[in-house]
Amino acid sequence: MDIKTILNRCHPIRGFVYGKSWFEEDQVIGVDVRPRCGARGICSGCGKRGRTYDTGRTPRGFAFIPLWGFTVFLWYCMRRVDCARCGATTEMVPWADGKHRSCYVYRQFLAFWAKRLSWTEVGRVFHTSWGVVFRSVNWVVDWGLTHRDLKGVTAIGIDEIAVWAGHKYLTVVYQIDQGIHRLLWVGRDRTEKSLNAFFTMFGKARSARLRFVKWTPSLDHLMKGRRARTSPVVVSPGGVVARRSTDLLATDDQIVLAALRMIRDNVNKSLRVADVVRAVRVSRRNLELRFSRALGVSPHDEIQRTRLRRIKDLLLRSDWPLKQISMAAGFTRPEHMHAVFRRDTGLTPARYRALHT
Ligand SMILES: [Zn+2]
Repeated sequence: MDIKTILNRCHPIRGFVYGKSWFEEDQVIGVDVRPRCGARGICSGCGKRGRTYDTGRTPRGFAFIPLWGFTVFLWYCMRRVDCARCGATTEMVPWADGKHRSCYVYRQFLAFWAKRLSWTEVGRVFHTSWGVVFRSVNWVVDWGLTHRDLKGVTAIGIDEIAVWAGHKYLTVVYQIDQGIHRLLWVGRDRTEKSLNAFFTMFGKARSARLRFVKWTPSLDHLMKGRRARTSPVVVSPGGVVARRSTDLLATDDQIVLAALRMIRDNVNKSLRVADVVRAVRVSRRNLELRFSRALGVSPHDEIQRTRLRRIKDLLLRSDWPLKQISMAAGFTRPEHMHAVFRRDTGLTPARYRALHT
């Protein structure tokens, strides 16, 4: 069995044939590629096939997956296509694009190993440069982003991970639907702006279809393939907007964090700002200041927002009657909940539930 047979079996190229192969210096194998007899080239301008205008004299080398430790190059003389629309254009070849001198399969191969080894290591093992590995990974990621299917994403997990030294963070969004755990998005910093960028990318329609948004303080271990260690905080999509300006800002202010926890844990009681002030042991004025600096809202507003989130959550995820929901959200009377809810959403709780479930 010769190299031609192996290549024809493992990497057939439509419209082209492999020719002779030879050894070169420095452990390199060269392989000729020729157009199949009568097969016309593809115009790189419009993608239509056209007759050959002329053929280049100097072959172009394209790095291929190494065989038995040998670097492999495919050598091909590019044709120019005489295109009715675009004029004479260099042809488009199916194994690589014009910008790269590495075959698509080779880029995939390098990117595959780059997940397991450092990029420098990959370069060293496969006799190529760090730059080629880097560009391969980049290309594969780009391809993945262009071709990924965001349909059917109904549950996401949001996390921040610390990178580099000195409190630099990335906001990370995962899909966490049943059976599908994958990274969807990474953004700089852990600010509201970072997360907004995700939702802009994700789009309004898809965001509206989200049924669960999970935020855990440290999902980064999920990325390393382990299960979440803390029980997730599950909120309804209605809570996303409010949530991202609270938890996701992930302020370092421990007082604010304690206050947020206290509000969340006691939302079913008729909680007042004074109760929070008492619990975190600072003056009311101090708490107001900290809240406005960290979250941009007052403690009173935060309590209200937390209640609204709870209501929305229960409307969507339970079949509780409104009276029970109003109690769980800390309202003494359902009419009061009704008024607050309507002021915020423009809908009655019942209408909201009907629209969203
Ligand atoms: Zn064309």
